Amino acid sequence: MQDEVLVLGGGVAGCAAAIALARKGRSVTLIEREPTPRHKVCGEFLSGEALEDLHALGIDVASLGAVPIDYVRLAAARRAAEAPLPFRAASLTRKALDTALIAEAVTAGVRVERGRSVQSLSRATANLWQATLDDGATYEAPSVFLATGKHDLRGHGRPKDPHQWVAFKMYYRLSAAQTADLGDASELMLYSGGYGGIQPVEDGIANFCLVVKRWYFARAGLSWEGLLAKMQQDCPHLAMRLDGAEPLLDKPIVVTHIPYGFIRRTTEDGLYCIGDQAAVIPSFTGDGISIALHTGRRAAAAYLAAEPAQVFQPKLRSAMLLQMRLAKAADHGLNNTLARAVLPFCLRVWPGAMRVTAMLTRVSQPVAVAPQAFAN
Ligand SMILES: Cc1cc2nc3c(=O)[nH]c(=O)nc-3n(C[C@H](O)[C@H](O)[C@H](O)COP(=O)(O)OP(=O)(O)OC[C@H]3O[C@@H](n4cnc5c(N)ncnc54)[C@H](O)[C@@H]3O)c2cc1C
Repeated sequence: MQDEVLVLGGGVAGCAAAIALARKGRSVTLIEREPTPRHKVCGEFLSGEALEDLHALGIDVASLGAVPIDYVRLAAARRAAEAPLPFRAASLTRKALDTALIAEAVTAGVRVERGRSVQSLSRATANLWQATLDDGATYEAPSVFLATGKHDLRGHGRPKDPHQWVAFKMYYRLSAAQTADLGDASELMLYSGGYGGIQPVEDGIANFCLVVKRWYFARAGLSWEGLLAKMQQDCPHLAMRLDGAEPLLDKPIVVTHIPYGFIRRTTEDGLYCIGDQAAVIPSFTGDGISIALHTGRRAAAAYLAAEPAQVFQPKLRSAMLLQMRLAKAADHGLNNTLARAVLPFCLRVWPGAMRVTAMLTRVSQPVAVAPQAFAN
């Protein structure tokens, strides 16, 4: 089957690109391996930039039940401090967000193939890409948007993750007292081997998402129960927050080997790499969804303006380089014992520190669209 554009992966970036292209009359096929949206390892924090992009795509997060997030609270060892967020933010489960994005893609006219996994992507001819699916079917197109997120297709991989990060997500129903205490805050808890975040999402539940280096997980006995116990011991704030909490999944969702700091330098003719396939920002910034939406829409705009992929990809890299470097530097800081100890104290005496950090680690948007949802 031949199309104008093939989009591989129907997450945030793939849907953003597919919607933008289909709305301009392009024939687009999107291939997504999951038959229905499922839970993904993600803190589910939507930054102001993400809200703007979602609004531009026609997604009304408030109507999906998204919860406004107005504060950030930092906890390390026995200290905790909070500051107002310098922008409007929200949280929404990925299941709800991905469902809405796929529905919007269908409405825009994208042919969505669900429950079908791409096995390989290679050149059929000099001007034609060929994606081969798990059932042996092939799809061909002159242009491909690679949006498979954390999953690398053979021959299009990203560098290895030297720290062997392991990330988990679990939903909890917190006790009434803890729900009230958490309020409309996103809490970031800092550890020697990583960090974790807890925040409310829709339907009165809380998302607990964390990422730790493998050595920390090994010290916790390589089990979820051991890890939870160690994290609560190392950060009493977490123990307090989870006191009386009811886990809502049988077991946590896990992903490993996250190449934080990766930015794709180059690409091949007709291959636009977007979302986590373009860049992977440290998770504490809460900016991965925004980058995925932004790179998806920006790649679609480049394609529509006949900008070749080999020109688009390095330009995208240059635009993101500064923020990525700052986010990586901040990430190193979080892993520094002294910095971790003084951070909550700094936040208490100078809440502006949060504003500066948040601004510096965000990827700037070329076009600002005022979000209706959660607008002041
Ligand atoms: C621990 C952690 C916490 C995070 N917290 C946040 C946060 O709070 N806020 C934030 O903004 N970002 C956060 N992120 C980052 C964010 O989740 C990602 O950056 C974002 O989801 C990337 O979007 P994407 O479209 O590239 O990938 P995804 O949204 O993962 O979509 C990729 C899609 O491709 C599909 N796919 C994969 N392989 C194939 C295949 N072979 N064939 C067909 N389909 C395929 C998958 O099923 C998936 O639906 C976090 C990341 C981690 C690891």
